[in-house]
Amino acid sequence: MRVLVASSEAIPYCKTGGLADVAGVLFKELNVMNIDARLILPLYSNISRDFELTDTGIELNIFLDGKFYSGRVYTHNRAIFIGCDELYGREGLYGDKTGDFADNALRFSYFCRAILQVCKAIDFRPDIIHLNDWQTSLVPLYLRTEYRGDDFFRDTLTLLTIHNLGYQGLFPPEDLSAVGLGREVFNPDGIEFYGKVNFLKAGILYADILSTVSRRYAEEITTPEYGFGLDGILKKRSNDLFGILNGIDYREWSPEVDKLIQCRYSAEDLKGKALCKEKLMAQCNIKLKKGAPLLAFVGRLSVQKGVELIIAGLDELIGYGCGVIVLGTGTREAEESLLSISLEGRENLYIRLDFDEVFAHSVYAGSDMVMMPSRYEPCGLVQMIALRYGTVPVARNTGGLSDTIEDYNALSDTGTGFLFDDYNLAVFLESIKRALTLYPFGRRWQKLMKRGMKKDFSWRRFASEYVELYKEALKGRMK
Ligand code: ADP
Repeated sequence: MRVLVASSEAIPYCKTGGLADVAGVLFKELNVMNIDARLILPLYSNISRDFELTDTGIELNIFLDGKFYSGRVYTHNRAIFIGCDELYGREGLYGDKTGDFADNALRFSYFCRAILQVCKAIDFRPDIIHLNDWQTSLVPLYLRTEYRGDDFFRDTLTLLTIHNLGYQGLFPPEDLSAVGLGREVFNPDGIEFYGKVNFLKAGILYADILSTVSRRYAEEITTPEYGFGLDGILKKRSNDLFGILNGIDYREWSPEVDKLIQCRYSAEDLKGKALCKEKLMAQCNIKLKKGAPLLAFVGRLSVQKGVELIIAGLDELIGYGCGVIVLGTGTREAEESLLSISLEGRENLYIRLDFDEVFAHSVYAGSDMVMMPSRYEPCGLVQMIALRYGTVPVARNTGGLSDTIEDYNALSDTGTGFLFDDYNLAVFLESIKRALTLYPFGRRWQKLMKRGMKKDFSWRRFASEYVELYKEALKGRMK
């Protein structure tokens, strides 16, 4: 089987978020599974600086928006890079401090066209082109239009994975010229979305199969509450829409082997976790009464992550006698609110407005609970990591959080965390209180921790699930 993983970011080459982990790990794992997989990415500045690339000598010359853009194709092992300095030779992937790049529609329609041209140029006939998010979503549209009937792609199927429906690649109507197709595709049955050009919609309409990053989210996005206006077309395609949970790399995220934490520990021997907590509290200048819990939030400070509930609940949480750590970066509004709270100098509260992976390891290991009051959560890695570290999640019952956390049940003494349904402060705090009531019951709490630590959310599982999906899709094609 030949698979082309097309993504706008992938580890180890470039990363702004979880998409990079999923694409990079999937590509690597497919090759381990003896699948002929390639990865294709735009060549951003840092990649040519940090990796020794091979120049294939293949040139691209693509006419878009009234101009020819010339590009060149490079490789690094089995990864392929589309070089075009004018479009990608910059530091940011999608924007800089001033905001998104103004030519993103052009940059990513060029990338989508290049993906198909490169397949032909290197004579790689994919069985599956695995697309990710809006940046690669025009590929199925080009296959339906300009490449329709092209023998080269006769046996190629496209799978689009939606990592977050909140990001659709929406552009003003003038950007249709960057797509390079006529007005016949710009109508409500095509890629128009309330007067704008919508890249993701092209993928949703025309990819052969669709997936998203948890089963629950696959259902949710077909409803108006979570569909961001695309629920109607997603519902129509619900037979082709699958949910495959992301996974984490346990070689990096396991308290047994983690070199970035103060003291290693395991479900069998939890002593090290208490030491991690002590060190973390000292580092954050938090002084708690004996037996009081330490709560943490790690993540983007955004509306999606429910940051306003965290901010609004801080005083209550500290009032309950807990210590609270907030580690995140995000919207200016959220950062400013948190900064002013931190300047007020509350006891037992530590706020770090930074992206700090090393510190994140200590927070996961040293905290007793993580809070995830997300409005929506396609998959979520934070709770998976927390579970592995015996750090009990208190989270909203949505998306991937529902699929990975089992709500604690006092009668049956089962569950791995605490879930709440309604998005509001009182309900969120109720679930925290439920957790705080159980916390002093050391033996029950430890059993809860251990159940979570034993869950398996490894990336190996998700790579196999994608391969199964490819096979199913290809079987369907054969019929
Ligand atoms: P997202 O929607 O942002 O992709 P996920 O829960 O899927 O959320 O993944 C977030 C990842 O980024 C986790 O690995 C988390 O540990 C990490 N992360 C988020 N914010 C920070 C931060 N400020 N410092 C360090 N790591 C962070």
